[in-house]
Amino acid sequence: MTIKPKNMPTLAEFGKRLPIGMRDEKGELQLKFALREWDWDLEEKIGESIENSDGNAMHHVTHVVAAVTKAIGGVDFDKLNDVQRRGLISRMYYSDVIMLYIWARIEGMGPNLKLETFNCHKCKKPIDFVGDLRHLEVMECDPKNLSRTVSLENGVKYANECRKKVIVEPLTWSFFESDDFVAAIQNPAKLKLLTMQHGVREVEGAPRPAYITREHARTMKVRDVIKIVKEVDQCGGGAVMEIEVACQHCKAKVEKELEWWRYGDFFGQSVQ
Ligand SMILES: [Zn+2]
Repeated sequence: MTIKPKNMPTLAEFGKRLPIGMRDEKGELQLKFALREWDWDLEEKIGESIENSDGNAMHHVTHVVAAVTKAIGGVDFDKLNDVQRRGLISRMYYSDVIMLYIWARIEGMGPNLKLETFNCHKCKKPIDFVGDLRHLEVMECDPKNLSRTVSLENGVKYANECRKKVIVEPLTWSFFESDDFVAAIQNPAKLKLLTMQHGVREVEGAPRPAYITREHARTMKVRDVIKIVKEVDQCGGGAVMEIEVACQHCKAKVEKELEWWRYGDFFGQSVQ
């Protein structure tokens, strides 16, 4: 379960905008975006591009977002070809891509998401639940200052010295599309190391840019690693992909993670 900051706005309160956004040619941050009407032509286009992609679930997300986006800031997607569209999505920050993906679902198919039936952890009875995506919580960030300094308890031995601070930045979508990421999904240790390798930009007092190898990681306590990974995950803000569910039998509250990367689950089961 994600450790979340308190008092986050819901998606409805946050509004239809990107958490980080893109810089236009004047260097101004653009947070606005427009999506296409999800008509049958778009449905066929998405169907085809998913069929022709390689089965990597993250590439599915890229295909959907690239097809459904009409404009981001000043960038008109009609003027780009498919490869340029997907390239642009790859270079965006993770939290922005997921935001486009959620709004594509809301505008195309409505906000209600039927979760697969699961058993309550308390009373063990089956929970049937329809979540409203507009109630997802959104972590806010400052797009002008995305890097965060993380203070470590034990530190990392890096360039011959024990360093107690690292600077992290949010991950781009290309990280999630990479073969390295897909290969590490089933292995929490590999995933943590990979996240540090891509998210840590600087180790205090050491030459830039930083790159944390497995040998560096072996000088660290896992508590410090988790602290870094958490900051990398959160420094870009964005929607927290969990829905709070109240059991209809015993009223126990359960946080349920959304399996958004499974296209059929996220886009298939609309409840109007
Ligand atoms: Zn229950």
